[in-house]
Amino acid sequence: MVVKLETSLIKDWMGYKGRPFLISGPCSAETEEQVMETAKQLAMIKEVSAFRAGIWKPRTRPSSFEGVGIEGLKWLRNVKKETGLLVSTEVANEKHVYEALKYGIDILWIGARTSVNPFTVQEISDALKGVDVMVLVKNPINPDIELWIGAIERIAKAGITRLGAIHRGFSSYEKTSYRNQPNWQLPIELRRRIPDLPIICDPSHIAGAREFLHEISQKAMDLNFDGLMIESHINPEKALSDSSQQLTPNDLKELLSRLIMRNPSTSDPKLLDVLGELRQQIDVYDDHLLDLMEQRMKVAETIGRYKKENNITILQSTRWDEIVKRVMAKGQAKGLSAEMIDTMFKAIHQESINHQMKVMNNGITNQTNE
Ligand code: PEP
Ligand code: MN
Repeated sequence: MVVKLETSLIKDWMGYKGRPFLISGPCSAETEEQVMETAKQLAMIKEVSAFRAGIWKPRTRPSSFEGVGIEGLKWLRNVKKETGLLVSTEVANEKHVYEALKYGIDILWIGARTSVNPFTVQEISDALKGVDVMVLVKNPINPDIELWIGAIERIAKAGITRLGAIHRGFSSYEKTSYRNQPNWQLPIELRRRIPDLPIICDPSHIAGAREFLHEISQKAMDLNFDGLMIESHINPEKALSDSSQQLTPNDLKELLSRLIMRNPSTSDPKLLDVLGELRQQIDVYDDHLLDLMEQRMKVAETIGRYKKENNITILQSTRWDEIVKRVMAKGQAKGLSAEMIDTMFKAIHQESINHQMKVMNNGITNQTNE
């Protein structure tokens, strides 16, 4: 279902310097010199539209650096005056909103630890009533699309028209090379649910390490994201927060030069013809997949009837282990990723269990049904 927001979004505000709308700056404002020097170097990069710096830092552990507070807002105001860049910071309560607006901050963002909490988002929304400012809502730390949309709706209800979302990945117990799991299907689903909402990718907090920034940024561009928020610092090694994921402005420039920009669509009739034909083939395969699933579930239901008649449990762990091993080996040999095979077969298995449950609980038996 497509979400209708209670405000008409200004769709093209991110066209400030063309696509992508690029926000960069340090994770945290640390000193006046660090802020100004970083900003001056960023202002020389033509793609950079806005400067970011965290003033109040939500940290996981209490003894970490928690930001310079209001003092830093003056530094941001100076950045705006001296470089002409838009300036942005994170707000996590109504007091932050009032202070940031007082100092002329152009873009407020709501962090991942805040968008999980409807009380706090509502408090921020109430503080934003009647205010004309850009607001970006980061995804909550857990992969819950409804919670993300809910936070966006609350801000839209305040009448904010220059509204956007930031995809910064999702925290997970499973450790992988990235700090946060991208779960790209969530921002893709957000685009489907609110088509007019600009979506920015924050590769820094997904990556957690400089080396992955380029590949994540490229993926975001390939998926037609509207912008990027990338952390930068004049001396990343010395940064007081998120040191390993920040880039020098020079390295940012180099990363941008390697980004391949793609067009969201084409009007070339020849290309449209070829794409149309290939898409028809995809539709045929999708129909095949659905027919196969239908047949697979019929078999699962028959198995369910036998299980019911013989009074045995639906879940048979050893059989499931065998299936996983078999399809993993076969699927990977066909060039399919382990991640996709895992997700797909978990979903198929769950669906089979549901069908078998229905049989078990409906009293349908092989005798009565055949
Ligand atoms: C940040 O942008 O520095 C930050 C704290 O981000 P997040 O809310 O995504 O963790
Ligand atoms: Mn950070």
